Amino acid sequence: MFVFFKKLIGMFSYDIGIDLGTANTLVYVKDQGIVLREPSVVAMKGDKVKAVGEEAKRMLGRTPGSVVAIRPLKEGVIADFDVAQEMLSYFIRKACNRRSLRRPRILIAHPSGITEVERRAIIDSAYEAGASKVQLIEEPMAAAIGVGLPVSEPIGSMIVDIGGGTTEVAIISLSGIVYSQSEKCGGDALDDTICRHMLAAHNLLIGPRTAEDIKISVGSAHPLQQELQMEVKGRDRGTGLPKTVVVRSEEIREALQDKLDIIVNAIRQTLDHCPPELASDLYDRGIMVAGGGALLRGLGDLLHEQTGLPITIADDPLSAVAEGTGKFIQENSRIFEDEN
Ligand code: ADP
Ligand code: MG
Repeated sequence: MFVFFKKLIGMFSYDIGIDLGTANTLVYVKDQGIVLREPSVVAMKGDKVKAVGEEAKRMLGRTPGSVVAIRPLKEGVIADFDVAQEMLSYFIRKACNRRSLRRPRILIAHPSGITEVERRAIIDSAYEAGASKVQLIEEPMAAAIGVGLPVSEPIGSMIVDIGGGTTEVAIISLSGIVYSQSEKCGGDALDDTICRHMLAAHNLLIGPRTAEDIKISVGSAHPLQQELQMEVKGRDRGTGLPKTVVVRSEEIREALQDKLDIIVNAIRQTLDHCPPELASDLYDRGIMVAGGGALLRGLGDLLHEQTGLPITIADDPLSAVAEGTGKFIQENSRIFEDEN
C-alpha cells in the first residue's frame, strides 16, 4: 500500500536542480539536463514585473525612467525577497511547462556564506514558487560534484567558484566541506572597477553592460601572448556628448589588479586553513576553478603563479553548479525525504 502511494506521489512530482546565481539562474530537470539558463534579472515597473531573465537583462541600464531592472541576488544573498520569489516562480514555470499539474521537488544551490535567515528566505521563496519539497546544497559542493571531483572519497579537493557577486573557495573531502570562504568579490566587482577606471582615465561614462563587454573582450589576469585592444563607446563626462576611446588589455589588467588580489588572497587563506593530511592532496591535485569568472583570460596563469599549485579551469564553468545539482538529484533520490 505504502509503496503504491509513493509511486503515486512520484507520478505527480518530479525533481529539478536550480543554480540560483547572482548573475545567472540555471535549471536542471532530472533525466533531461539543463533546460533553462537565464540572467538573474527582473525588470519592474512600480511593483509590477515587466520582464524576467534575458529580456530583463537587455533593459539593464537602458530602462526608461519608470522601469527598473533589478538583480534580486546582488551579492549572493536574496537582497529583495519579493522580486527573488517572482523570478524563481517565473523560471520554475518556464522550465516546467506542459506539466502544470505536477509540483517539482527542488534542490537549490546557495552560496556557502549565507545566514540561517537567508537560507530560510530561499526555502520559503521556492515553496511560494510552487515547490512540493525543497532542499538546499552548498554551491561549492554542487560545483565540485558538477565538475567531477571525487567529493565522496577521503581525498582533499579544492574548488574555487567565481560568480557574479561572490567568489567561493572550499576544500572538500568525504562529502563534506572541510573549510570554506565566501568573498563578496566576483565578476560584478570587476565590471564596477572597469566603469570607474574608464571615468578616471578617460573621462568616459559607461554602463555595467559595456563594462562587462570590455572585461569579456579584452580583460585579463595575466600578461597575454598577444595583447588586445577595443573601441569603447560612452559619454564624455565633461561635454556630455558621445565619445569613443580605444582601451588596451594592459590597462584593463592593471585596473583589475586589486580585485583579483582579493580573490587570490581568499584562496591563500583557504590553503592556510587546510588540514595537513589534505594539504598534500591539494599539492598533487591542484585547484579546480568554476563559475563565469573562471573564463577571464590568464586567470589560470595568475593563480598558478600566486599559489604554486596546478590549476584546472572547468570545461564549462558556467554550468558546473547546475550540473552538480543535477548529478546529485539523479544519484540521491532520497534527499527529498528529510524535513526542513
Ligand atoms: P553566478 O553564479 O553568480 O550567477 P556565473 O557563474 O553565472 O555567476 O558567472 C557570471 C559572471 O561571469 C559574470 O560576472 C560574467 O561577467 C562573468 N563572465 C562570463 N563570461 C566571462 C568571460 N569570458 N570572461 C570573464 N568573465 C566572464
Ligand atoms: Mg554560481
